[in-house]
Amino acid sequence: AVEADVEALQHADVAALLPAPGAGSDKYRRGVVGVVAGSKRYPGAAVLAVAGALRGGAGAVRYVGHGADAVIARFPEALVHAGPPSEAGRVQAWVIGPGLGEDAGGALGDVLASDVPVLVDADGLRPLEPEMVRGRDAPTLLTPHAGEAAALLGVSREEVEAGRLVAVRELAALYGATVLLKGSTTLVAPAGGTGAGFAARPVRVNPTGTPWLATAGSGDVLSGLAGALLAAGLGAMDAGSAAAYLHGLAGRLAAGGAPVGAMDVADALPGAWRGVVGRG
Ligand code: AMP
Ligand code: MG
Repeated sequence: AVEADVEALQHADVAALLPAPGAGSDKYRRGVVGVVAGSKRYPGAAVLAVAGALRGGAGAVRYVGHGADAVIARFPEALVHAGPPSEAGRVQAWVIGPGLGEDAGGALGDVLASDVPVLVDADGLRPLEPEMVRGRDAPTLLTPHAGEAAALLGVSREEVEAGRLVAVRELAALYGATVLLKGSTTLVAPAGGTGAGFAARPVRVNPTGTPWLATAGSGDVLSGLAGALLAAGLGAMDAGSAAAYLHGLAGRLAAGGAPVGAMDVADALPGAWRGVVGRG
């Protein structure tokens, strides 16, 4: 049965995944994240994705896009670049999509042509075709919500909501990518096809979410966070599931039973991280 192929994320598993810098570490070893996000219309998405990456432990963040002024105003530690992603310098993982608007196509081709892990979210998912992902050697992590997943599959949002487990598996098979399907229960499916080996690898279910996370920009924070974990060297399944787990905890910490904004969730990430690893 399909339901048997599911495992709930456990606190101890996530704790074991989170990277801790050793004495000899440096910013490059911790991981440089490239963030392609934001636009003149949605500059805030750039800030939120960069916030997620920085609070997710990135050694450095290279930001590429039209939100550079907003990013620097909030995060002077970010590096900003005007040209295409391929000219921004070396990164260990790319995050592309939050608030990019209509003109995501060129940059998307650019980052997918790289040999490092790529996370595609939001507007980055619109021009995405399976063949752009299937030939990649490095991992690709897609992070749609139900509406975005529906568009990728060519079905209605209602169909995705009615069969989230089937939908996340279908997407992972179609794109040959790891897929994190956001929502009231976030699911993470391993990349692959429909063969027996693929079906044997369970879909992970995140238990930490809270409906207070259903607020504009909260997904942008998740993207940056997962990107930082990819840049630190986690595989796409581990980066996606650890990010969903921490993001849910941060949402709970920030909310405490009251409304929160997306930046509050980003600011609560260090506390969530401490809670998972169990030290200060
Ligand atoms: P996005 O749709 O990209 O803005 O992302 C929204 C974020 O909030 C994702 O991390 C979702 O998993 C989370 N989220 C949305 N609705 C709920 C809900 N009802 N319960 C728990 N988490 C949610
Ligand atoms: Mg989103």
